[in-house]
Amino acid sequence: MATLRPSASQVSLSSAPLHPLKNSSLDLPGTCPGAIRIYGSREKSGKFEDTQLRLFTTNKNYPSLRVDASREYMGLTQEITDNRKLCANEMEHGLDLFGKMKSRFLSFKRHKYLEDLEHFEKLAKAQAPKFMVIACADSRVCPSNILGFQPGEAFMIRNVANLVPPFERPSETNAALEFAVNTLKVENIFVIGHSCCGGIQALMSMPDKVDSSSFIRNWVVAAKNARLSTKAVAANLNFDQQCRHCEKESINRSLLNLLTYPWIEKRVSKGVLSIHGGYYDFTKCTFEKWTLDYNKSTVDKEAGRFSIKDQTFWC
Ligand SMILES: [Zn+2]
Repeated sequence: MATLRPSASQVSLSSAPLHPLKNSSLDLPGTCPGAIRIYGSREKSGKFEDTQLRLFTTNKNYPSLRVDASREYMGLTQEITDNRKLCANEMEHGLDLFGKMKSRFLSFKRHKYLEDLEHFEKLAKAQAPKFMVIACADSRVCPSNILGFQPGEAFMIRNVANLVPPFERPSETNAALEFAVNTLKVENIFVIGHSCCGGIQALMSMPDKVDSSSFIRNWVVAAKNARLSTKAVAANLNFDQQCRHCEKESINRSLLNLLTYPWIEKRVSKGVLSIHGGYYDFTKCTFEKWTLDYNKSTVDKEAGRFSIKDQTFWC
C-alpha cells in the first residue's frame, strides 16, 4: 500500500492553483493545516508527473489497488475540500466581524466625528465629563448604548458585577475613582447594575469559604455584605429571586462603599458630588434610577442603610 501514498501528491497538484504562494505557508497565519502539509509535499517532491504515472500503471496491473487508491484519493479530496471550506469560513467570519466593525467606525467618523469636529477637537485637548460610571463588564449592558453616553460625557469603568470595593481594597476601580473625582472633578458617580448578572450569580452561589484560586470569586467577595443581607432577608425566595434582590442590594452597598473614600465623602458632604444607583432590567427593558440622600445621621455604612431621593423608573 505504500506505493499508493503518492496520491497525496496528486491531490496537492490539483490544489496548487488555490495556493499561488511559492513557499510553504507555514508562516502564514490563518492558513489551513491540511493545505500546508500537502502543498509542502508538492514543493519538496517536484515529481508529480512521474508519481502519477507510476500510480496509474500500478492500478492497471492491480485492480484492487486501484479501488483503494481511488478511495484514498476521494478521502484526501474530501479532506482538502473540508479544509478549503474551513479556510473560507474562517476568512469570511474574520472579515465579517472586522468588516462590520470598520463599517461602524467609518459611520461614526462620518456622521459624528466629522459633523461635530469642533467638539472632538476640544476633546482632544481635555475632557470634563460630568459622570463617573461604574457598570458591569457584561456585553449586554453597555451604558453608552443603553443610556447614550457620548464621547466626553462619562468617565467609565466596567468590572464584573459593577462593584465598588471598599477604600482599603486596592483595585483598578479605586484608581479610576481617584482620577475621576480628584482630577476630573466629576459631579456624579453612577453605579449601574443589571438583571441576570453572572457576577452576582457567582457571588450568591459561592461557598462560604472562598476558593482563592478563582479570580472571579476573589473579586465578587467584595460584595459579601450584599450577599449576607440578601440571604438574611430573602431566604424564602428561590435562587433566581435572591440574585435579583442581590443585584440591587450590591448596588446600594457599592454606594455606601463610595463613602468610605475620604475624598469622595468630603465632596459629597459639600454637595459638589452626587452618588446615584441605577438598575437596567434587560428582560423587560426598564431602567430604575435613584440618588443617595447624603445625611451623616441617616447613613449607616455598617448596617447598609441610607436615605434615597429622586427615584425614577423608566419603562
Ligand atoms: Zn453583570
